[in-house]
Amino acid sequence: MKIFISADMEGVTGVVHRDQLVPEGKTYERARKLMTADINAAITGALREAPDAQFIVCDGHGVMRNILLEDLHEAAQLVIGPASPENKPLCQSQGCDETCDVGLFTGYHSRSGTPGGLLSHTWVGSTVCNFRINGEIVGEAALNASVLGHWNIPVAMVSGAHELEAEARATLPEGFVFVGTKQTYGFTAALCLPPARTKKLLEDGAAEAIRRFKQGKLKPHKPKLPVTMEVETYRREMTEKACRVPGMERTGERSFATTANSTLEAATRMWTAVCRAQDEEPGWLK
Ligand SMILES: [Zn+2]
Repeated sequence: MKIFISADMEGVTGVVHRDQLVPEGKTYERARKLMTADINAAITGALREAPDAQFIVCDGHGVMRNILLEDLHEAAQLVIGPASPENKPLCQSQGCDETCDVGLFTGYHSRSGTPGGLLSHTWVGSTVCNFRINGEIVGEAALNASVLGHWNIPVAMVSGAHELEAEARATLPEGFVFVGTKQTYGFTAALCLPPARTKKLLEDGAAEAIRRFKQGKLKPHKPKLPVTMEVETYRREMTEKACRVPGMERTGERSFATTANSTLEAATRMWTAVCRAQDEEPGWLK
């Protein structure tokens, strides 16, 4: 079995603040360790049900060089490097392909605009106000699930702060396991479980997730084709820049969309457009 892990950082055990999320932050090095530990726990749990499994882990946050390779479980290989469209067109799903069987999302967060959500955003916090797939507002969980769905790969587990569960249950096919790492108080505060507790929750959650997958209980997320992905930005200039990407159509003063015959094609094109919408090339893309 080949298991794809898309790993973000905002939903990781103990992470609540931007200082923990950027290399300049004083607490970043500790957060990297916590992120790597969450992933290792998911791998350890999955191996209980699939002892021969291989894992592809995509570092899917910011500079995308957060996970400590030297501490990563030996059953895994790691996708490292910034997600410029030339580099990692699939962004947080880079490394996944038709050879993978099932997906796990660790350290995920709620979508842009979630009331009271912890570090909530979609793809690029400064740019994306809303992201829609076929008219439905979604976050990164459903967005990446739709990319995996292109290859009929279901998502078996999502982990993150507690408010993400409602979003994921509303926008992903049912049956996946949700593992809560913390109870959100506000945008930068939460009641956090220590790693000693989340380790067990993530191990048990991943084991249950793979069990459900093996029992055939999970469905891939497959939005109706042709699929339309639409982004509403915060400023008109962002939309103007994004619309220079071939295949983008302006749908409003601050919004643009693309329609494609596959989620893979639409998501790849949309990621390119969101990158191009930046005022200047941001540090995390270099
Ligand atoms: Zn992130």
